[in-house]
Amino acid sequence: MSHTTKIVNTIAEMSSITSIRNHEHKVGFVPTMGFLHEGHLSLVKAAKENCQIVIVSIYINPSQFGKDEDLDSYPRNFEKDVRLLTALKVDYIFFPSNEEMYPNGYKTWIEVDELSSILCGKSRPIHFKGVATIVAKLINIVNPNFMYMGAKDFQQIAILKKMIKDLNFQTEIIPCPIVREEDGLAMSSRNVYLSKEERLRALSLSKSILFAKKMFLNMETDPEKIIIKISEIIQQSNGKIDYVEIINPDTLQKETSLTNESRIVLAVKFGKTRLIDNDKIGL
Ligand code: AMP
Repeated sequence: MSHTTKIVNTIAEMSSITSIRNHEHKVGFVPTMGFLHEGHLSLVKAAKENCQIVIVSIYINPSQFGKDEDLDSYPRNFEKDVRLLTALKVDYIFFPSNEEMYPNGYKTWIEVDELSSILCGKSRPIHFKGVATIVAKLINIVNPNFMYMGAKDFQQIAILKKMIKDLNFQTEIIPCPIVREEDGLAMSSRNVYLSKEERLRALSLSKSILFAKKMFLNMETDPEKIIIKISEIIQQSNGKIDYVEIINPDTLQKETSLTNESRIVLAVKFGKTRLIDNDKIGL
């Protein structure tokens, strides 16, 4: 039987489609900003495995970009995205306009205290308010049983899980592993900004994380010593460190004693491009 992928532009149509969500029809949802790569597609594949209806949204949410950030230059290729999602037999692509999502006079915002002002929230103070708000709206519009999200954005998942719990949304986040290029660089739509030379230097992120995992394997238990080594490796590649931390995966607070699940998280700039990466310290 041939399969069609339908593009939906309005909230009214999207909401009417998933009102059929029930025990037999699990709705899986993958929110994205488009310019899709294998990382995004891994989320779609996970959703296809477990859900009868799969919806992918493509929406570059202006409210999560700071004034001096890359909203205008954020990469886009809608036709290619549609081709990739059609090949994976996605059922619906939700592709709304800014007017649809933030009509004139829009006033309501969601803030998840504390978790949103640390790590990436320090240098991107409005980012997670924008993310929480758009994801809350998308949950209400799409009404998914499950949302598939990448561990690449580790802090984002922690914040959205808290929002879902605190606001009693009837959905569940399924975190999926980071997909990397063969040489270790975590896939990101923003990697296209990197020059050839910056792209090479950026390999210090995954390399420093691997080094940190080895230190832990070799019984290093002092988080500070590990953080210093990671920072050295990144500085040798001329990366400008925003933060390097080892945190508790649930509270996102700095770890004083390490467990397998303690998370190495970092954000580093190469030229104008800010990259993030993370992994658990244990195997
Ligand atoms: P974005 O389009 O950057 O907003 O990302 C949409 C979703 O894809 C988020 O849940 C991201 O965490 C996820 N994602 C982005 N890059 C990767 C990656 N390299 N591996 C796994 N998931 C990813």
